[in-house]
Amino acid sequence: MGRKLVAGNWKMNGTNADLKEIEALGIAWAAPRVDIVVCPPATLVSRMAFSLGGQPIRVGGQDCHATESGAHTGDISAEMLKDAGARYVITGHSERRADHGETDDMVRAKTEAAHKAGLTAIVCLGESLAQREAGETLDVVAGQLAASLPDGATAANTVVAYEPIWAIGTGKVPSTAQIGEVHGALRARLAERFGEDGNGIRLLYGGSVKPDNAAEIFAVENVDGALVGGASLKSTDFSPIISAL
Ligand code: 13P
Repeated sequence: MGRKLVAGNWKMNGTNADLKEIEALGIAWAAPRVDIVVCPPATLVSRMAFSLGGQPIRVGGQDCHATESGAHTGDISAEMLKDAGARYVITGHSERRADHGETDDMVRAKTEAAHKAGLTAIVCLGESLAQREAGETLDVVAGQLAASLPDGATAANTVVAYEPIWAIGTGKVPSTAQIGEVHGALRARLAERFGEDGNGIRLLYGGSVKPDNAAEIFAVENVDGALVGGASLKSTDFSPIISAL
């Protein structure tokens, strides 16, 4: 298993003024024991990467198109993110699946594009509340995992984030037993399909991770870090989460 990873997803938040949060993070984490990634809106990727300079904190995009270039108004390719200084990109976030109708097939194509550009993809999946209540969680996430990951996924180019939709931005968090059950099932599927590499693909938990619940979540088996939304916007919230890992 490689290093643990904490990734922040700023979603549609942040302007130039918020780069001060990254400067504070850079000062606090000059030599981190874990990998740290911040995924700002596309407008800030380049400036954030520039302001981090040679520091170990990495920058990521929140989405990419499945192709390299062309007539796709408003879209951004993985190559462009790479060119802007990104090392990572989130694919298949539930908000993109919901707001933009992204299917597993589309997510797999975007993930492949990320790999081709030399980016590490953070592939997101997770069940809805209705699916959890119907007892479908393990089937849903296994299906998403199988269909959203390309055959070329490796421990170096792919991270998987389990984000139950009902836990995102709600303050509701699954029990540690529920997280452990899903992460254990995902790990087994990854090992089955990718062998040794599957054991090395990092599995993040995401959904209402905060400074006061991070340590408990990180102690769960097969949790290799977190994908953090709201609590990644302020360095005073994000730093204690990184410390907890
Ligand atoms: P919150 O941490 O705000 O619940 O968001 C989680 C998330 O969707 C990260 O991608």
